Amino acid sequence: MTAKILDGNALSATLRQSLHERAAALAAQGCRPGLAVILVGENPASQVYVRNKIKACEAVGVHSEKYEFPADTPPEKVLSRIAALNADPKIHGILVQLPLPPQFDENAVLEAVSPEKDVDGFHAENVGLLAQGNPRFISCTPYGVMEMLRAEGVSLRGKEAVVVGRSNIVGKPMALLLIGASATVTVCHSQTRDLAFHTRRADVLICAIGKPKMITGDMIKPGAVVIDVGINRLQTGPDAGKLCGDVDFASAREVASLITPVPGGVGPMTITMLLANTIESADRAAGK
Ligand code: NDP
Repeated sequence: MTAKILDGNALSATLRQSLHERAAALAAQGCRPGLAVILVGENPASQVYVRNKIKACEAVGVHSEKYEFPADTPPEKVLSRIAALNADPKIHGILVQLPLPPQFDENAVLEAVSPEKDVDGFHAENVGLLAQGNPRFISCTPYGVMEMLRAEGVSLRGKEAVVVGRSNIVGKPMALLLIGASATVTVCHSQTRDLAFHTRRADVLICAIGKPKMITGDMIKPGAVVIDVGINRLQTGPDAGKLCGDVDFASAREVASLITPVPGGVGPMTITMLLANTIESADRAAGK
């Protein structure tokens, strides 16, 4: 079997078209959606992510504001900017690009964002609402994965879903969403004994590990749906410098029924769901 490729760029383009229309309708009501992005330090990957998010906002008609701080900024300065943005009616979403420099307590910064503007879904209140099955904002990467599965008509009810990775950003919210969709969910991590035993049972396998090509075709159940969240830059070999996922695409594609590529899979969906959350937030503000 050669798997069908789930094209995140194509699905994103379709979704962004309808987001553009929603943003225009809100702007016509005097409530143009607005996103503020906070970037502290000079991490090159973070700078690329922030640039891409701002560009995506412009393309769908979401107002964006970027606040850049040098790496040695005292945390109070960033916290006071967040407080001002919490009170700013033009802003419906606030995103703090992670990681933050070491003098910051990341949790304290994330908790400082108003839960009603927390479009990344990282605030404890929003994590709690998701755990209760009543989400306000779903973190963008797992939300994007669910949208890809929905768009492809993948039914999750009663399926064995295995998530490799238990981070707060991807693995844990992913598991909660799959439970909400009535899958039977297993979460694996670095201490899991016999990872392949679990991955081979998966009807739906979600990999969010950060280890290039770690999941190979022999670890995948024939016909499984494979979602590769990983974004890794190869350090050595003929493809050095190129991006790859956590899944060995070439061998996995011969076994799976559906598979996401890297790049062009989950990555573009993450930014699309950030736009969706910001527009949803503006919608709620307009309805108040
Ligand atoms: P983290 O480093 O926070 O988490 C990685 C998880 O993988 C941890 O739970 C870790 O286990 C687990 N893990 C590590 N090694 C193994 C192993 N050998 N076997 C099983 N599990 C293992 O990463 P993130 O969740 O933030 O990101 C994961 C990947 O997804 C990265 O490549 C990242 O770049 C990418 N990413 C992509 C996004 C996108 O838009 N497509 C968005 C966010 C992330 P333990 O908890 O025990 O340490």
